[in-house]
Amino acid sequence: MQGIQTTTSEREQTRVERIGAHSHIRGLGLDPTTLEPRGNSQGMVGQGKARKAAGVILKMVKEGRIAGRAVLMAGPPSSGKTAIAMGMAQSLGSDVPFTMISASEIFSLEMSKTEALTQAFRRSIGVRIKEESEIIEGEVVEIQIDRSLTGASKTGKITMKTTDMETVYDLGNKMIDALSKEKVIAGDVIVIDKSTGKISKLGRSFTRARDYDAMGADTKFVQCPEGELQVRKEVVHTVSLHEIDVINSRTQGFLALFAGTHRSLIKAELRDQINNKVSDWREEGKAEIVPGVLFIDEVHMLDIECFSFLNRALETELAPIVIMASNRGITRIRGTKYKSPHGIPIDLLDRALIISTGAYLADDIKEILSIRAQEEDVSLAPAALEILTKIGSETSLRYAIQLITLSNLVARRRKAAQVDVPDVRRVYTLFLDEKRSVQFLKEQNSLLIG
Ligand code: ATP
Repeated sequence: MQGIQTTTSEREQTRVERIGAHSHIRGLGLDPTTLEPRGNSQGMVGQGKARKAAGVILKMVKEGRIAGRAVLMAGPPSSGKTAIAMGMAQSLGSDVPFTMISASEIFSLEMSKTEALTQAFRRSIGVRIKEESEIIEGEVVEIQIDRSLTGASKTGKITMKTTDMETVYDLGNKMIDALSKEKVIAGDVIVIDKSTGKISKLGRSFTRARDYDAMGADTKFVQCPEGELQVRKEVVHTVSLHEIDVINSRTQGFLALFAGTHRSLIKAELRDQINNKVSDWREEGKAEIVPGVLFIDEVHMLDIECFSFLNRALETELAPIVIMASNRGITRIRGTKYKSPHGIPIDLLDRALIISTGAYLADDIKEILSIRAQEEDVSLAPAALEILTKIGSETSLRYAIQLITLSNLVARRRKAAQVDVPDVRRVYTLFLDEKRSVQFLKEQNSLLIG
């Protein structure tokens, strides 16, 4: 593609440490048609309403109907906000970008807040680029036949798997014959039997190659626009706008992606140029925009300038869907003296779809803990699971999950194959949960440096 270079799809990798805790999540666990949450599915348990709401949003994302919107996931700590976002990420197509950031990452000395947010936005917009390339034997190819070649006002297209180019041309020529002899109109589906070379007309009901594919045929014709007799292969790959920015902002091109230095400033003019180029590609039918998802955790950590940036950026043409998460109640908006729900300005809140997550029932906690234990290859004695469930209900789910790993270490030291109550008790006394830590601070306040 002239001017601007791209590279093959490279999905933005989320930080390893944050993935770890959610590695058991494989989707939202919803029924694909009704979007009703299934009891325990794809690693997801409970929080049915929130999962269903996330499923509805996901459906709109997939249909490209919800770009530029904001969603807020609000709920207490450890209530599954991030887990649900991860579930959404898993259910998106592999070329739909999903970027996850924590609001505090925006504040760094390396770059301005707005540059960091812009990069996060552009990482979340995919550009699906279509290119033509050479054919290798055995690949699926398309042949288009022009009216000038058929000598009749007919056009056709063949999509087939081939083993050699001779077959491709041979079948192409047979098609030309068929188009000139038979009463075939554009939009008809014609089939060439690969072994006999016999051509038959299927009528207009099979409008897509895929439909014919389903019948198990190895050769199929579909309706086509005009074009010359040509053999071409279309290759589609998706890159993020940010990747295009980075590749074009460096002299070393796409190698910059591996250099690890691309978190630096990208000039606004370059981004404008790239936006223009992408819009040209779209007009020429060479590219499509794939709006993805930007997940901003701890969104109350953003300040008023970031919030105004978000408000503006959401209105631009190339905006992803922004999912924010917060566990705060009414709190101060950073950078102002005003308070608002979740520390988010009212105007942004007003445009957001809000999904709430609530506290878990003990049964849900138990099930999540079992899933985590399995995920970490830890065998829990039933009594240990009971006690961890109790700890999870009284402190937090996250704390109880962490105790699984720790008590397993203790169990292994005593060469036991299974984690039992004393192992859990041991780590529970060694590592404080949030409530006990606060209590400790209160008691020891006079001894600590203030
Ligand atoms: P915070 O506000 O503190 O960031 P959060 O609401 O984002 O919390 P998570 O991090 O999603 O909470 O949940 C804590 C742990 O529990 C994670 O390991 C997560 O994968 C797991 N978890 C939470 N909810 C569910 C669920 N419904 N099904 C399965 N696992 C869950």
